Amino acid sequence: MDKNFKKEVSARPGGENINYCYSCGTCTATCPISELDRSYNPRLIIKKVLLGMKEEVLKSDDLWKCIQCHRCVAHCPQNVKFADIMRVLREMSCEAGYYPESLLQEINELDKSVRNYRLDLVKKHLNGGKRLEQAITGLAGGDEEDG
Ligand code: SF4
Ligand code: SF4
Repeated sequence: MDKNFKKEVSARPGGENINYCYSCGTCTATCPISELDRSYNPRLIIKKVLLGMKEEVLKSDDLWKCIQCHRCVAHCPQNVKFADIMRVLREMSCEAGYYPESLLQEINELDKSVRNYRLDLVKKHLNGGKRLEQAITGLAGGDEEDG
C-alpha cells in the first residue's frame, strides 16, 4: 500500500478530482467496455487508487482497455473525470516501467485518430443538416416570391 498514491494522481493534470469520488458506480454502469468485459470496473480502479494499491493498479492491463469515449465523465455526479484519470494512470505506469512509452504514444495516437474520425462524421452530419435547412429556407423564399 502507498498512501501517497492518490496525492500523486491528484497532483497531475486530469487527476485533480479523484478525491470527489463517492463510489456510486455510475461510471461502471455507463461504460461500454464494462458492458463487454465484466472484469473492467472504473469504480473499482478509483477505489484502488484511493486505497493506495499503486503497484496493482499501474501493472494492470485494465489501464489500456479504456477507449476514452467519456461516457463515464458525462454521467459522473461528482465531476471526477475518470477518463482523464486513466490517462494519468497510463503515464504513471509507463514512467514506472511497467509498460513501454511507445505503447502510451501509440494509444494516444489511436485515441486522437478516433476523435478526429468522430469529428469528421459529426461535421459531415451537421453540414448535411445545414444544406437541408438552406433548402427549406430557399423553398420558403420561393413561396414568398411566387406569392
Ligand atoms: S460515477 Fe463518479 S462518483 Fe460515481 S463511482 Fe464513478 S467516478 Fe466515482
Ligand atoms: S472513457 Fe473509458 S472508462 Fe469511461 S466510459 Fe469510456 S471506455 Fe469506459
